[in-house]
Amino acid sequence: MTDLCDPAAVRRLLEENGLAPRKAFGQNFLINPAIPAEIAEVSAAAPFFWEENRTEGTCALEIGPGLGALTRELAARYAAVTAVEIDRGLIPVLAGTLADCPNAEIVEADFMKTDVPALLSRFGGKPVHVAGNLPYYITTPILMRLLESYPADGSSPIRRITLMVQKEVADRLCAPTGSDVCGAITVSTALYGRAERRFTVSAGNFYPAPKVASAVVTIETYPHGLYDLYPDAPRGEAFAPFFARVRDLIAAAFGQRRKTLTNALSGLYPREDAAAALRRLGLREDVRGEKLSALDYCQLADELK
Ligand code: SAM
Repeated sequence: MTDLCDPAAVRRLLEENGLAPRKAFGQNFLINPAIPAEIAEVSAAAPFFWEENRTEGTCALEIGPGLGALTRELAARYAAVTAVEIDRGLIPVLAGTLADCPNAEIVEADFMKTDVPALLSRFGGKPVHVAGNLPYYITTPILMRLLESYPADGSSPIRRITLMVQKEVADRLCAPTGSDVCGAITVSTALYGRAERRFTVSAGNFYPAPKVASAVVTIETYPHGLYDLYPDAPRGEAFAPFFARVRDLIAAAFGQRRKTLTNALSGLYPREDAAAALRRLGLREDVRGEKLSALDYCQLADELK
């Protein structure tokens, strides 16, 4: 069996198949065997935050298996693994590198065009952990697609997402409220679960080496959906319009982050209404959007209904 983390073997394997790393698909293959093993360990570990997320028979979905280095580690820890790979040229290579992993299945697709619930239905309703060493160019859309593919007012079959991302994206995802790196993705992710940085990975661990450092983050989803963050969120039919307001507020606040929040929201609400709602929440009228947490945005959406 080819050593998938030996740089010379990786080059040879690609050459034998008439391939080379494709920049357009963000292909940087892991060449330190400790890293895929550690990502899989973190992915399969006991719940970090909620005991309710400890579930039997959890399956794994991998995005971008490449040559299969992480897929093999996942297959050793999960009952079943489905890996979605966009690069048609890698599909026959994966058939070889995963030949001794009968619980691993490859789907040739662009993850951004897949129907996520249909994809996960192959696990028969079992809980799912997502893992991937993501192409840098598409990290945020992939993460939001994962989070938004199930209604936010209940538990998602996706209990944990473990991703290798550019270090700056990891900083943003895990940023404390109010910090300079806090962005729309920080607050939007916090509507679905809790993000935490696990470890950093330097560029020398990849072939070819990227220009940036990377970090692995986990997002453990709320077992009861948004109610774990904001127990007062409306229930039943009132949830959808409430949640749409929360998202509109976040989009407006971070769309014009140099402005005060009341100014940034002026296209949605009369200035005086927004200012009064902020006062009722004990916030300053001239506060900027990044100073509010995901919970603050939920409370503000309730105030502005
Ligand atoms: N998992 C391998 C590893 O760690 O060595 C490869 C990681 S490489 C950074 C990213 C992988 O994602 C590549 O195999 C690439 O072809 C694949 N990929 C890129 N865009 C994709 C997409 N939209 N859907 C599915 N796979 C994609």
